[in-house]
Amino acid sequence: MEWLSDEQRFSAIEENLKIINEEISEAAVKSGRNPADVNLMAVTKTVESRFINHAIANGISLIGENKVQEILLKEPELNLENCKAHLIGHLQSNKVKKIVGKVDTIQSVDSVSVAREIGKRSLEAGITTKILLEVNAGNEDSKFGFSHDELFEKACEIAEIDGVMINGLMCVAPICEKDAELRAVFSNMHRMFIDIGNKNMDNINMNVLSMGMSGDYKQAILEGANLVRVGSAIFGMRIYR
Ligand SMILES: *Cc1c(COP(=O)(O)O)cnc(C)c1O
Repeated sequence: MEWLSDEQRFSAIEENLKIINEEISEAAVKSGRNPADVNLMAVTKTVESRFINHAIANGISLIGENKVQEILLKEPELNLENCKAHLIGHLQSNKVKKIVGKVDTIQSVDSVSVAREIGKRSLEAGITTKILLEVNAGNEDSKFGFSHDELFEKACEIAEIDGVMINGLMCVAPICEKDAELRAVFSNMHRMFIDIGNKNMDNINMNVLSMGMSGDYKQAILEGANLVRVGSAIFGMRIYR
């Protein structure tokens, strides 16, 4: 949408949000749930603050950023009184100190060591940080996250850490040629989400199943996602500078 005027981009964002909300409702009902039980996160990486604020003015109450630097830079310009921010990108231990206390949830916890650092910095700040465990749902070399095989063991280990509260699971699905393949990836995530939740462990509340992006949020909802992370379908193609 780079070639459009700001006014045109504002109305495109409104249109896109309407369509996406309808699609979310439809998929939620199809999966036997209330549309209100599925949360739409606007993924705002590379998006300028005025457009993010426009999405917030049009009902967005949850945004996701990938980089610590970017979220700290934009935060003062954003109308976050009624909107929460989550970190959804890979987090290095040396950046943890900067982000703890600045976001509601860190969705991209992919190692015990980063969870320990979040716990340590949260205790120093006198808070508990909500985290999601990132799962490498397609077992891809190129992606971050725990493998299916290690997830439960790591969850138990992280649950012992003071200062963090495991609040669910997150994944970025692999690119699948067949719809059935993609659905199976999401369905597997949902099964792990339910299984871990059923164990009723201290410090683990399986509240949030964060999966589905612009290209696959409908399939994710049909398989049980209750938080979808949508970027380009709201704001248009990203331009990396
Ligand atoms: C960029 C990103 C998204 C949104 O991607 P779109 O395809 O633009 O919807 C969601 N989740 C994560 C972790 C991302 O990095």
